[in-house]
Amino acid sequence: MSEYKQLINGELVDGAREIDVENPATGKPFAKCPVADEAQINQAVAAARAAFPAWSAKSQEDRAALINQIADELVAQTEELARILTSEQGKPLDQAKMEMMAGMFTAKVFADMRIEPKTLQQDEKNRIYEIRKPLGVVAAITPWNFPIMMAVHKVAPALLAGNTVVLKPAATTPLTTLKFGEICNKFLPAGVVNVVCDNNDLGDVLTSHPDVDKISFTGSTETGKKVMEAASRAIKRITLELGGNDAAIVLDDADPVEVAQKVFQAAMMNAGQVCLAVKRAYVPAPLYDAFCDELARLAGEAVVDEGTAQGAQIGPVQNRKQFEKLKGLLESAKAEGKIIAGGNAIDRDGFFIEPTIVRDVSEDARIVREEQFGPVLPVLSYDDIDDVIARANDTDYGLGGSVWGKDIDRAVSVAEKVQSGTVWVNQHLGLSPTIPFRGAKQSGLGGELGQEGLHEFTQATVVNIKL
Ligand code: NAD
Repeated sequence: MSEYKQLINGELVDGAREIDVENPATGKPFAKCPVADEAQINQAVAAARAAFPAWSAKSQEDRAALINQIADELVAQTEELARILTSEQGKPLDQAKMEMMAGMFTAKVFADMRIEPKTLQQDEKNRIYEIRKPLGVVAAITPWNFPIMMAVHKVAPALLAGNTVVLKPAATTPLTTLKFGEICNKFLPAGVVNVVCDNNDLGDVLTSHPDVDKISFTGSTETGKKVMEAASRAIKRITLELGGNDAAIVLDDADPVEVAQKVFQAAMMNAGQVCLAVKRAYVPAPLYDAFCDELARLAGEAVVDEGTAQGAQIGPVQNRKQFEKLKGLLESAKAEGKIIAGGNAIDRDGFFIEPTIVRDVSEDARIVREEQFGPVLPVLSYDDIDDVIARANDTDYGLGGSVWGKDIDRAVSVAEKVQSGTVWVNQHLGLSPTIPFRGAKQSGLGGELGQEGLHEFTQATVVNIKL
């Protein structure tokens, strides 16, 4: 019987069955995970529904105090949880600890926020103001790249706003989330947070459930479309954080070596499995060779190893399916461009891919058009700034992007033309729980983080009084 349990109505329970969880550093199962059947999903939703009236009646201060206790417990359990996270997700242990700390910090930031009535008009004839109320039961569905951080992005604001939650992690990274459920259960009333697992097959049961009022989903654009379809049947509130194909545009006054180092970090973090990773780099022709050479040097020197190994910088990719997808993309890349570092899976157990840099590649190559989600970066050259902006924008995605140059005003004028939810200047990947984060185009709908992210878990009501 698995040592990991689902959380339903304040009880830590087994699943209807169990599945193996593989360690991506070995490709071998290391733990069993309980998975729900439809009946357990229904029980979890019913528990969340039953807990809603009492939870939503509590003051924001009372709810915030409990969120803070959960955050403190995340800190107390960081070492243990980071080890589980590295075992199931693959990331180096120090990055796993950073994810835990980011989760804790985000929870605390939301605990400090408040939802206040907003005056819209006040004169001798009218008083009009807006209040925000919780929506009810939130289905929170997370991907496998940052299981804890993504869970906290959803659960903390949902709870502060007065909602109850059914949280479902990805099938290949369920364990840290189950531990998070245990922590929630230490502090919260029964049913306020429920954690259920599946074998990547019950998401639709949750999103279609008539008693789920809001879906907060992070994952691929392909699955996001299915979520939107399920939500459409009852016009459920949805937040979708989806895929990206972020471009980094380097301007001709940039230092190519310095910028290459920063772009490399932003492309390879978490083995490139970051929605907001740099996934394409555009470099002016005169700087192209120097930029590519520095990237190739960094890729050659990067320490790729299992996450628990001392000094590991890049771990394995998270799961077998993603590993196979990347191998296919690398085969295409060999025909589409010139590989100047890496290019292959590493000949060892587990799902390791060499950090790969591809140059002299055309705009329509698969490695450029598709979200790689791995330690792979194509580098393209350009001559004309308007042309490169058009090329950077020529994608259905619009999550993030960055522009790099010494003349900040000029870099900003280019940045503002990038069609994405976030665009950075002289950095990439900077996120803060106080700053809203959202995708343009097919990278998402609505947003997370910041006061706006909190408001996504509420229904606004305008109160319009004739005086
Ligand atoms: P995925 O879409 O395969 O799965 C995400 C979650 O959805 C999992 O929990 C999965 O079990 C569940 N799911 C599967 N089918 C479902 C259905 N029909 N209805 C409801 N839920 C269903 O994504 P993934 O492969 O786990 O994650 C990688 C993707 O996530 C990448 O595209 C990445 O860019 C994206 N991502 C986006 C953000 C962001 O904030 N924009 C953050 C992290 C990851």
